Amino acid sequence: MQAEIRSDDKKPETRKKFDVIIIGAGPAGYTAAIYTSRAKRETLIISGILPGGQLMLTTEVENFPGFANGIMGPELMTTMRQQAERMGTTIIDDEVVNVDFRHKPFKILTYSEEYEADSVIIATGATPRKIGAKGEQEFSARGVSYCATCDGPFFKNQEIVVAGGGDSAMEEAIFLTKFANKVHVIHRKDKLRASKVMQDRAFENQKIQFHWNTVIEEIKGNQKVNQITVKNTATNKMDTLEVGGIFVAIGHEPNTKLFQGQIDFDANGYIVLKNHTQTNVEGVFAAGDVHDHRYRQAITAAAFGCMAAIDVDKYLSEHK
Ligand code: NAP
Repeated sequence: MQAEIRSDDKKPETRKKFDVIIIGAGPAGYTAAIYTSRAKRETLIISGILPGGQLMLTTEVENFPGFANGIMGPELMTTMRQQAERMGTTIIDDEVVNVDFRHKPFKILTYSEEYEADSVIIATGATPRKIGAKGEQEFSARGVSYCATCDGPFFKNQEIVVAGGGDSAMEEAIFLTKFANKVHVIHRKDKLRASKVMQDRAFENQKIQFHWNTVIEEIKGNQKVNQITVKNTATNKMDTLEVGGIFVAIGHEPNTKLFQGQIDFDANGYIVLKNHTQTNVEGVFAAGDVHDHRYRQAITAAAFGCMAAIDVDKYLSEHK
């Protein structure tokens, strides 16, 4: 690791060089760091504004293997962070504001420093879109969820809501009928965006009730959600639904804006990979929800982190 002082005091003062810099500190980033550090690669994680990622906003995680009685999301992420640090990873809680992948070593600028790296793993994740209703943030992880696979089993024998009209909403609504007595699908239009096959499956399901041209105005509760207020935009009629939870499934935004113009994205902004975990820039890899819009699980993100780390180690062996 080298350090050099820059004379221009308006620019970052210190420049540090690492074998690998991991941008993002969710399950993908931490797992990648555990592997690269253990392989004796000088590793820096720049954690971003929410170290720990989406799991910091959840409560109990029941489906991450190794925890027979479940584990709280923040505790799981703190443990992963400690494990990465124990392996020798340097972690900086700062936000990346610019990257330069055009020349090697790659340059990564945060609010306070400029770093250089021989390789990079992008693990910045994706952010679920919010509906913007009153109470949505207040009841997040207290009845408002953005992941049916993660939280569905907590809603056994309850009545719940799914917001959205795409494939994710249909998939989540169908999945949630395994647990819930009834699932209300609230959609802002009078027809679904979901594929025909998903629509047919949802329409056939007796436990799903559709509310067309309907928007969620407010989410209410005490300790947890117990009621939502909806408005029919065709009639302006307000209504209330007594429900135990709401699953927001209106899409995700991959956190890729920073890499625009340098890294190849698909039509929805997710990073496109080739040769397993490599991006279009040789030496820059990606792992987790930033490229994976299909599985979006902590365990799959962690697995992608492991894969990217192994690919980085091989890349560094061949190029250093
Ligand atoms: P999506 O296709 O973008 O659909 C988002 C849905 O949420 C749309 O119905 C949209 O309404 C609604 N929406 C967006 N913003 C909203 C807001 N602020 N308030 C209320 N509603 C809002 O997203 P997705 O369903 O997550 O799917 C993403 C991609 O993954 C798609 O290509 C999809 O086909 C794919 N996918 C496939 C499967 C599968 O095949 N099994 C499963 C999941 C996802 P409008 O219709 O009015 O725009």
